[in-house]
Amino acid sequence: MKWKEQMLTLKAYQPGRTTDDVKKEYGLKEVVKLASNENPFGSSEKVRECIRSYADSFSIYPDGYTTSLRTELAEFLNIDEKQLIFGNGSDEIILMISRAMLEPGKNTVMATPTFPQYRHNAVVEGAEVREVELVNGAHDLDKMADAIDENTAIVWLCSPNNPTGIHITDTQLRAFLDSVPDDVFVVLDEAYYEYVTADDYYDALEIVKQYKNVIVLRTFSKIYGLAAFRVGYGFADESLIAQIDPVREPFNVNSLGQKAAAAGISDQSFIEMCRTENKAGLEQFYAFCREEKLEYYPSEANFILIDFKCDSNELFEYLMSKGYIVRSGAALGIPGTVRVTVGSKEQNEGVMKAMKSFL
Ligand code: PMP
Repeated sequence: MKWKEQMLTLKAYQPGRTTDDVKKEYGLKEVVKLASNENPFGSSEKVRECIRSYADSFSIYPDGYTTSLRTELAEFLNIDEKQLIFGNGSDEIILMISRAMLEPGKNTVMATPTFPQYRHNAVVEGAEVREVELVNGAHDLDKMADAIDENTAIVWLCSPNNPTGIHITDTQLRAFLDSVPDDVFVVLDEAYYEYVTADDYYDALEIVKQYKNVIVLRTFSKIYGLAAFRVGYGFADESLIAQIDPVREPFNVNSLGQKAAAAGISDQSFIEMCRTENKAGLEQFYAFCREEKLEYYPSEANFILIDFKCDSNELFEYLMSKGYIVRSGAALGIPGTVRVTVGSKEQNEGVMKAMKSFL
């Protein structure tokens, strides 16, 4: 199929159900959304204070270099400011990388299922998409390495992977990167990085120091609880950032988002609290799965994929009628499962009760 024809096969982004819409349909007073891996604890009080006191003129464009957030983040990560790129969510950085690196005749390698925007943007750019099946929810890095050839421009790694929550270990990652040619760009999407507690996880800052072809993507949408502001960032060797930056829109990160993200960084105790609560929430789900004899993917993120071996869409609809919006595994490419965001203790108990009544 020709490039533009293939692009026309793409569906526009299908937004999930909103709580208002579900309340109306089922006549419910309370609806909990556990579908998009958002933070049930909101954001730091420091962020809310900062936003309340924001008094700059709204007629002024945002700072097109994200200067003060850049300085804060570079200091926080202990890297050079030129090693950073910011986006309107990490979604936009995925788009920028694709636009900068892909074209018809090139190919790009990724796992499946994984975060769908890698594939989506590759199709828009007319590149060939090479998808390698996950094994037990994890990237099959040997097969991914085999899929690389002289026309490969980008390899996408998602760790922890969305939708399985499985991470790549330090040993696995280094072995893979050692086998990748230097001119292949490797994107390491760590949208859920701050939730990871596994001892065998790699240090992404060390990785970018050692491997000049790797860019790491992170976001303020998840543990920082700032999804509405749309702020994501990437860090890599300066030369790599310089290759993507020309594609960036002039004022791509909004002013409030820049302030909110900087305030978010300044409150690491909030992040610590969210990580601890998330871990406890995962344990609640694991105990439930063991009790109900359900298989699940052990997660390093703030969601869990549970295998109900049922019609995922039916369970999805049922949970919605009980006031819980989750993500159907049918839509994620793993039929029989649902992916549920770890909520507060009460929200987790509520959704598990609803799941139990379905079984
Ligand atoms: N990468 C992954 C793996 C994600 O799950 C998400 C959000 N669902 C994103 C990137 C995009 O996040 P954002 O654009 O909000 O930074």
